Amino acid sequence: MNTPIQKLDFPNNRNVRLYCKREDLLPFSLGGNKVRIGRAFFNDMLEKGKDCMIVYGNSRSNLCRVLANLCCAHKVPCYMICSGEAGEEAGIETNNSRLMKWLGAEVIPCEKTNIAQTVEDTMNRLTAEGKHPYYIFGDKFGIGNEGTPVQAYVDGYREIRAWEEQEGILFSHIFFASGTGSTQCGLVSGKILEQGPEKIVGISISSREYDRAMNVMQTGIREYFEKHHLELPEHFAKELHLEMAYRQAGYGQYDDRIMHVIREEFCRNGLPLDPTYTGKAFWGMKEYIEEHHLEDCDVLFLHTGGTPLFYDCLPGGTL
Ligand SMILES: *Cc1c(COP(=O)(O)O)cnc(C)c1O
Repeated sequence: MNTPIQKLDFPNNRNVRLYCKREDLLPFSLGGNKVRIGRAFFNDMLEKGKDCMIVYGNSRSNLCRVLANLCCAHKVPCYMICSGEAGEEAGIETNNSRLMKWLGAEVIPCEKTNIAQTVEDTMNRLTAEGKHPYYIFGDKFGIGNEGTPVQAYVDGYREIRAWEEQEGILFSHIFFASGTGSTQCGLVSGKILEQGPEKIVGISISSREYDRAMNVMQTGIREYFEKHHLELPEHFAKELHLEMAYRQAGYGQYDDRIMHVIREEFCRNGLPLDPTYTGKAFWGMKEYIEEHHLEDCDVLFLHTGGTPLFYDCLPGGTL
């Protein structure tokens, strides 16, 4: 599952050299970090002896696409609980929602205030049918499986370390779009385990507030270390750097500065970015490099994927 790390053309006058790890090129379902994360959930389901999957999310999300695709490919029934499907946004078709129609997951609409009940009802219904359902987020309140997706980017981090050793290059910083924090938990856990030197900087792209995001990530890391009987250093939280200043108006909101970077990177490096995740993070990283006066260093941008959203944002698209 090794993805390429390439040097990007990155004009600047402080000798900052920029590299990109192309997680968008992971060879399944149009790639992205959700391929690694989705596989971690899928394997956990198999290990726990379950035979069908319940996902909470929406049909425009990269996670739902990848999980539905894994289930479809392995002939495992997939149930997708969606809140807000009755609202205005429900009608918006994107490339992900179109792909979801192909993949045939059963969509279960629910109210935002009624998620736990819907998860429970769905579990009960499937159990009564003789199935053994697996809910990716743990219990009906979405608690208890925080450690599972962390493995994905412990592995990703180890690939980065191996590349650094092979090339004789040490990254000073690793930047990426941080949403639920699974990717960040994995990278930071990997860094702690391997005692790496890089500063791992998540660019927040979500609407989640700082304290809550930090809490969720600390829980994820703690659960991962407990699950694998590993010793977690007392001050591990100091490795969590989450930049809140580049969210613009919140999740999915963006302005011309981001669209400019997306077009520029496609023209300059042939790199597809999107305005919700990777384009926002790339723009945030550039701002950070300026604001923190980074100088004479090697920086890594982890491209977390979202290829369908790149097409959504082309002129005439739905983003
Ligand atoms: C989900 C996603 C992210 C955020 O990853 P988390 O692990 O949820 O923080 C970033 N980029 C893309 C393209 C994604 O689909």
